[in-house]
Amino acid sequence: MSVLFRLEQESALRHALERDELELYFQAQGDLHNGRVSGAEALLRWRRGDTVVPPSEFIPLAEKSGLIVPIGAWVIDTACAHLRAWADQGLAETRLAVNVSARQFFAGDLESVVSEALARHGVKPSCLELELTESLLMHDPEATTALLHRLKDLGVSLSLDDFGTGYSCFAYLSRFPIDTLKIDQSFVRDMVTQANTASIVAAIIGLAHRLNLHVVAEGVENEAQLAYLRRLGCDEIQGYLFSRPVPEADYLALLASDTTLPGAPQTAAHTLLLVDDEPGILSALRRMLRQEGYRILIANNALEGLELLAREAVQVVISDQRMPGLSGSEFLARVKDMHPDCLRIILSGQADMASVLDAINNGAVYKFFTKPWDDAQLRERIREAFRVQAALALANPLQP
Ligand code: C2E
Ligand code: MG
Ligand code: MG
Repeated sequence: MSVLFRLEQESALRHALERDELELYFQAQGDLHNGRVSGAEALLRWRRGDTVVPPSEFIPLAEKSGLIVPIGAWVIDTACAHLRAWADQGLAETRLAVNVSARQFFAGDLESVVSEALARHGVKPSCLELELTESLLMHDPEATTALLHRLKDLGVSLSLDDFGTGYSCFAYLSRFPIDTLKIDQSFVRDMVTQANTASIVAAIIGLAHRLNLHVVAEGVENEAQLAYLRRLGCDEIQGYLFSRPVPEADYLALLASDTTLPGAPQTAAHTLLLVDDEPGILSALRRMLRQEGYRILIANNALEGLELLAREAVQVVISDQRMPGLSGSEFLARVKDMHPDCLRIILSGQADMASVLDAINNGAVYKFFTKPWDDAQLRERIREAFRVQAALALANPLQP
């Protein structure tokens, strides 16, 4: 690129910002647990006359010239403006992710850019996600960790983009306060045909879940990839199969259309049995799990629970400990013998700890939770229970 050409391009890009030629497109992400749109990634476009210029053609120049700093700030502010407008239109809360480049990250005022944009538009911080890349974070891990913590303190979520293409330093994975790994599309492309790539994807998903990280697979283009990612327990996907990056109006139309991912899980494959004698607890659990897409069965006592288990294929059961008739631990001990494939969780008050401990030591209980529970944590544990259950069922195909 000649110097003159570069200068021309640079000045055109500067004007693009001033003349409002930049625009955000939105690419929906789909939740593999319930098949629904879970949020979107905002992707920058430059509308130059009649053509729409993709970021690969101007982001490198923006980075080199430093223009990425004001452009990046514009992206964050505009994303928040969209979130505000969507909330005002009464749309259900969804997450919106924006990309942050290295230069922008280290320019020094990212924290105030983010907090000012959130405040200016009155946006809930948890709706905004910042996508960072590994190479950016590895540049200066000490300074990075401090800044990441300050960003987290604002309440936004953080994800690691293009995961697997940089140094993938596992030591830092546990130190950086990130929420989500985005598996790079190069792995997704090959995972259905290449055994090694499939192993890498499976390992990334397993590692991420062990570290309590959420996993999004990028670049999902066909149903085989989707089905495989679902089997591996991936949480979300993004890719042309679900939606291309589209202008706002098209994204909102997709949201309104209630489109779901192809081949959404058979409800019967995700059946959860809740056993409790208190109607209030049952409805709170149901409410908390509404978005998860499970088929939920309800029993008011242990005997009703056993009857349902005899009739229906149930993968996970959550039982109260203190109930009239059989206690929760007695109930689950029976479930263990009669339906060994069904994963058993107990929900108890602090006072019932002794009997619950016995049940755990007898192997009748997989996990126990105390009331009151933390919604997000319990939801995640139940997802994990379904994953573990699926793995166990695969290992023991002959069990009833
Ligand atoms: P990225 O953040 O990894 O974004 C995903 C890219 O993959 C997007 O390209 C998207 O259109 C593309 N993609 C999504 N699904 C598929 C698929 O199924 N198949 C294929 N082949 N591609 C798919 P896009 O929009 O051209 O953006 C390219 C890169 O430009 C982004 O990669 C990101 O690194 C950068 N970028 C985009 N917007 C911004 C921004 O606002 N700020 C900064 N700093 N970088 C941005
Ligand atoms: Mg990205
Ligand atoms: Mg990416």
